[in-house]
Amino acid sequence: MTVRVRIAPSPTGNLHIGTARTAVFNWLFARHHGGQFILRIEDTDSERSRPEYTENILQGLRWLGLNWDEGPFFQTQRLDLYKEAVQTLLDQGLAYRCYTTAEELEALREAQKARSEAPRYDNRHRHLTPEQETAYKAQGRSFVIRFKIEDDREIVWNDLVRGKMVWQGRDLGGDMVIARATADGIGMPLYNFAVVVDDMDMQITHVIRGEDHIANTAKQILLYEAFGAKEPEFAHTPLILNQEGRKLSKRDGVTSIFDFKQMGFTAQAMANYMTLLGWSAPDSTQEIFTLEQAAKQFSFERVNKAGAKFDWAKLDWINSQYIHNMPVDQLTDLLIPYWEEAGYQLTGGRDRPWLEQLVTLIGPSLTRLVDAVAISELFFTQTVEFSSEASAQLKQEGSAATLKGIIAALDNHQLTEASAQEMIKQVVKEQNVKKGLVMKALRAALTGDLHGPDLIQSWLLLNQIGLDKPRLLRALAETN
Ligand code: GLU
Repeated sequence: MTVRVRIAPSPTGNLHIGTARTAVFNWLFARHHGGQFILRIEDTDSERSRPEYTENILQGLRWLGLNWDEGPFFQTQRLDLYKEAVQTLLDQGLAYRCYTTAEELEALREAQKARSEAPRYDNRHRHLTPEQETAYKAQGRSFVIRFKIEDDREIVWNDLVRGKMVWQGRDLGGDMVIARATADGIGMPLYNFAVVVDDMDMQITHVIRGEDHIANTAKQILLYEAFGAKEPEFAHTPLILNQEGRKLSKRDGVTSIFDFKQMGFTAQAMANYMTLLGWSAPDSTQEIFTLEQAAKQFSFERVNKAGAKFDWAKLDWINSQYIHNMPVDQLTDLLIPYWEEAGYQLTGGRDRPWLEQLVTLIGPSLTRLVDAVAISELFFTQTVEFSSEASAQLKQEGSAATLKGIIAALDNHQLTEASAQEMIKQVVKEQNVKKGLVMKALRAALTGDLHGPDLIQSWLLLNQIGLDKPRLLRALAETN
């Protein structure tokens, strides 16, 4: 048997972290078994589905490296298939037309509520005579197609994550709607129906999805039975929870996968972190791996039943590991868009080799890519504001003489790492000041601060774009 799995997002919003994590698990399982990973867009909700959401979903999956083998298939392009399947069930007497109006359903619900009963359809149109149907049609009523669900049915499956699951037919809300009607016949299928028809047609062997779909599974199994098809295996993955233990939602400030990109997380770190949202490697101390490496070890035995808490500190740590180990040219490619978005001009000598030198300098201090904007601001602006500490430093005795000495030395020497060290040594000697003071004054003058990346490397970078001397002169004026 070839493993065939699918991710089946509804394009009613951007690619959400929950869907992305489900996609990761599907991908890992498919790759582990040398199977196929299929992408299906469930766009039958015409009011809420949007092409831009589909685009966002495709881009998000690609960004994460979750390449698919087949698709994207669109449910709205497969309506004939669903209609045919509805007709099959109608022909077999397993489904029927229900003419109950919205008002009647509402009244039913109210009555059930008054009796403290769970809301359910009472199957009232299960056995309409042809005359009754004709009469309802004559009244201008529209219909839906309902699939018969017997109250005394027990539905059992062995969930790959949650173990044995048992549901009773009477808890499924009565005969279920599987399709709506159009003026001339069977119309849009509903989720539970289309998903089964598609999963059968696409020969899906394992349905791996979020645990919010557990309640649908019992209904879907009844549909497989009605079609005389073997049901796939089911694996319901745990929810992603926030720090308070509630389902991660918009209120947590993250919705789309691209929100994470915007915040400076790399695709590899995101994919890596998502594999850990509910799964752990056999060696649970191993936390950094590519998707391919995780796929080798992936199995549902190590997927938790309990919800997976979203841990920002862990994600930050994983992200920093990827950034710190990334080749400099690759990291430069990733940082350029952040600088551009911050409005930094990549001109005036800030060519590729210079940028790569800058990345070598700041890379080890980054946790998120976006951190590069603040850390490197001093390399993209003409002048820097002096922090109060830097300002105080410049006013200290010895700072003026130091800066004068450095400026004079700069006029006579080409700046290199060696000559920079030499100039500092010389100023220490000539002005009879401590090396620490020289370093601090120089840092304050060049960067406007007393903390930051390696001083000599920073100086070299500023020198290459002609900013060191003007800053030294300006700082000299600050020494009063
Ligand atoms: N369209 C459903 C969703 O986005 C798919 C669920 C499933 O995988 O069956 O939740």
